[in-house]
Amino acid sequence: MSEASTLQGRIVAAHGRHYRVAIAATEQTRHCYTRGKKTGLAVGDQVIIQPEGLQEGVITQTLPRRNLFYRSDAQRSKIFAANIDQLLLVLAAEPEFSDDLVGRALVAASSAGIAVQIVLNKADLPSTAVARARLRTTESLGVPVLTISALDPDQVQQNLAPLLRDRCTLLLGQSGMGKSTLLNALVPEAQAATQMHSEALGTGRHTTTDTRLYVLPGGGDLIDSPGFQAFGLHHLSPREIEQGFPEFAPAIAECRFYNCTHRHEPGCGVLAAMASGAISASRHALYLRILAENEAAKRF
Ligand code: GDP
Repeated sequence: MSEASTLQGRIVAAHGRHYRVAIAATEQTRHCYTRGKKTGLAVGDQVIIQPEGLQEGVITQTLPRRNLFYRSDAQRSKIFAANIDQLLLVLAAEPEFSDDLVGRALVAASSAGIAVQIVLNKADLPSTAVARARLRTTESLGVPVLTISALDPDQVQQNLAPLLRDRCTLLLGQSGMGKSTLLNALVPEAQAATQMHSEALGTGRHTTTDTRLYVLPGGGDLIDSPGFQAFGLHHLSPREIEQGFPEFAPAIAECRFYNCTHRHEPGCGVLAAMASGAISASRHALYLRILAENEAAKRF
């Protein structure tokens, strides 16, 4: 087939190896798939497709990405999305959010060059004040925290919607934090769209493995991803892990050894900064955990 018969588009939904692609400069979407073993495509990817009939197509090429946000354990990677402008991390006091998972999401974002905005949801709960205090270290790293209640549509519209305008945002959170409630407040047709999509795929219900991009009424895109319980970072090299902790940078400049791993080396600037309170002990402990996990994985 000739070049002219291909189309360009953006992946707006992913369900296993089935994708929905919005065709550029049209209102059309097509149900697309890949041939052979090609995997690793993500919602947000710009792709070239070979149309098949009026409604389907084969993805033949992925265009270069600006960034890719993903997690990985020893066995496989789990891609959240590609070409995003920011990560919106949804937390709440109840169920209690995990500091470890928040830290890991920040490292993944930092190493991919993606800005993070935290939403501390369920502001109406009295336990929110304690949760807010737990976020102080994170906030001191320059990550903004917005405290709202997704149950109050006015708060969502006034305080959150402006932060999403004209940007592509990935919505991420452990289950139970209120991600779906927020999504439905921001994108009125999200609930209906989710249902239609599941029906089209014959699953009859919203499956937790779907990732979907919604166009925001005020401009911009919001990508909804499945909840997660683990956040491995096995794809990161020791240097990339280090870069995921940007607050270490000034202290690293003081390390005696150029290949210092900041674990136990004499003259380590990071350990000195931690002793003086300039670097948080919990952040350093997270750094050590990620480093140890990745080293253990390499031994197998
Ligand atoms: P998801 O698993 O992150 O998608 O969470 P859901 O949106 O399904 O919300 C989980 C539960 O938290 C539901 O019972 C929601 O009604 C509730 N919830 C969501 N937002 C708020 C909020 O702002 N305040 C309170 N009190 N409950 C909320």
